[in-house]
Amino acid sequence: MPGAIDLHTHSSVSDGTETPTELIAAAVEAGLGAVALTDHDSTAGWSEAFAAAEGTGLTVIPGMELSTNYGPASVHMLAYLFDPTDGGIIAETAHIRDGRLHRAERIVEKIGKDYDLHWDDVLAQSADGGTLGRPHIADALVAKGFVASREEAFESILNWRGPYYEKYYAPSPLDGVRMIVAAGGAPVLAHPATRGRYRVMSDQIIGELVDAGLVGLEIHHRDNTEDGKERLYELAREFDLVVTGSSDYHGTGKPNRLGENTTSPESLARIIDAATGTRPFVG
Ligand code: AMP
Ligand code: FE
Ligand code: FE
Ligand code: ZN
Repeated sequence: MPGAIDLHTHSSVSDGTETPTELIAAAVEAGLGAVALTDHDSTAGWSEAFAAAEGTGLTVIPGMELSTNYGPASVHMLAYLFDPTDGGIIAETAHIRDGRLHRAERIVEKIGKDYDLHWDDVLAQSADGGTLGRPHIADALVAKGFVASREEAFESILNWRGPYYEKYYAPSPLDGVRMIVAAGGAPVLAHPATRGRYRVMSDQIIGELVDAGLVGLEIHHRDNTEDGKERLYELAREFDLVVTGSSDYHGTGKPNRLGENTTSPESLARIIDAATGTRPFVG
């Protein structure tokens, strides 16, 4: 499989700005050999991505970025190659998406007291049935001219420390790993050393996740701090975990570019070996 491997991207099925078809075209254009589609809490983009990759030579790794809550922290868990018809996954992700929808309504209601922002403005920024998040509210705030960019919205009105923030339901990281493994998937902790948060999960908790079937750590990611990466390398050695690198591409929603961080073919092979739920789609 020639070409670079990028295992973390988002389409308009969640908070990316490109449809799965457009995302696959961008991945081909970027010269990738393999790309994982990892929308937040949804597999709804998989079939469109496979169809778009047909005949291009690109390999598509079906995946998802599962939301989990660890105390007050939101911890993201990448899940690869699980069975998308697994009952546990279907029920839990539906629960999370429903919680996200009502949470977005609560945020917009609060913002609406201070700004001329309505629920319809947010719906206009999201795909039907897609996973709603703060990025869609950010896009509505940009469309209304209250902020210049998603970035600015996250630094001001949508900041988690701000008065409009609301949490949403998500399982614990441990339950997330168990659920992914039960569906035949390979769980990889996403950007675990994000600025200011790299001590959120102790070595002991990571050890518990490994015992439950955690396969890897996403170390090469622009949001991981350099100090954090060093600790993650130690953990990867200690627990024999797969090291991945990825862009976390969101189209124009973030500066992250496809292929800016990549995963080795050996690491991808270990992820494929660990998963029994479904196979990569070779386009
Ligand atoms: P939520 O899950 O609804 O709380 O929103 C978090 C999502 O917002 C993450 O998946 C990120 O992709 C996105 N996000 C976080 N910070 C920023 C930022 N500064 N600019 C653009 N998107 C961001
Ligand atoms: Fe996102
Ligand atoms: Fe994430
Ligand atoms: Zn992501």
